[in-house]
Amino acid sequence: MRLRSRFLIDLGVLAENYRKLKLICPNNEVLFMVKADGYGHGATVITRFSVAELGIKEFGVATLGEAIALREEIKDLEFEIYVFSDIQLTLESAKEIYLNRRIIPVISNEGDLDYFLADPDFKHFPLVLKFNTGMNRLGLDFDKAELMAKKIKMANRHSIFHLLTHYSSASLSMKKNKRNLEQKDRFQLVKKVFRREGLELERTSIANSGAIEQGEGLEETHVRPGLMLYGPTSLIGPCRNLSRWTGQIISELETYIIRTFPVAQGMPIGYGATPVPVSGLVAIIALGYGDGLSTRYQGVHLFHNGQKGTIMGRVNMDMAQVFFAGEVGGRVKEGDRFVIWGHDSESFLLLADQSQTIPYEIFLHITSRVPKVYI
Ligand SMILES: *Cc1c(COP(=O)(O)O)cnc(C)c1O
Repeated sequence: MRLRSRFLIDLGVLAENYRKLKLICPNNEVLFMVKADGYGHGATVITRFSVAELGIKEFGVATLGEAIALREEIKDLEFEIYVFSDIQLTLESAKEIYLNRRIIPVISNEGDLDYFLADPDFKHFPLVLKFNTGMNRLGLDFDKAELMAKKIKMANRHSIFHLLTHYSSASLSMKKNKRNLEQKDRFQLVKKVFRREGLELERTSIANSGAIEQGEGLEETHVRPGLMLYGPTSLIGPCRNLSRWTGQIISELETYIIRTFPVAQGMPIGYGATPVPVSGLVAIIALGYGDGLSTRYQGVHLFHNGQKGTIMGRVNMDMAQVFFAGEVGGRVKEGDRFVIWGHDSESFLLLADQSQTIPYEIFLHITSRVPKVYI
């Protein structure tokens, strides 16, 4: 465990992001995605805070195991949990878990739907269906909507607890991208078919962060934000002007400078012996890929006391070298607190763009060696 490196998570900023979200979609209920340990921020703390302080009532995870852990760790609060992909529905032990702990599987294939409908124990349990409208990953085929609706009626069920679909390209324009327009149409069609068959749709949702940021999918009862509540936009660079999102990064990743030393032009630095381009100062910081500082961050620019640095040479397991060109005039010193990212979204997105990765992955990289500290 690191002592002077911390993944600081400010729940006040999460609250502020939620308030901003509600300005975009005041009439929608929120199903908050906390899969992959709350996008790396600690699902238990994030969920507890979101129920108790923000009044969010529904949460999504990817696996049954994640859902069980949330139920185990938060026994004193009431909230719904949906399991989205790794539902293990037909596993013998899974049924009791779903029923007894009120964990709701999102059914996205016909085999699971048949199994669910055939079992009288699930007769009064919420039926949640995910349709494939073009993502082509999981999901019931949209063009089998009528068949599915008939099956459900045959099993004597009259309502769907939550009908949903997922966009493949919400990080692009919702108004111009053909796939997005097509998926939107297909989902409306599925809804129409279900209603025509006389099935009630209690809840519906289509929008993840990218769509919500563009004000799309708000005609449904629910929205399903993940990334945006943790701070970043999920739109890709060229489309960011389409986003209404003004959220702040809820976390800061900080470390400190172990050592500094002056370097002359051409001096080789660290693994791979990368020569520095001009003379300047190297600062060794106490984070490496063993902490989640990806080797992809080589070449990325980071600012320290207004001084522009560059991650130089390969990121090591336990450390990284940050190079400052020219005279730094005492602004980069041993023992200084060094911030990889702060609450400012711009600089966080710069890190993602420069390293050609995505905000989701940057958060998920952080390992257990960096203590999470909640404010
Ligand atoms: C992860 C996920 C979301 C949230 O996506 P973001 O891009 O993080 O907002 C919404 N819906 C489903 C089905 C998901 O798997």
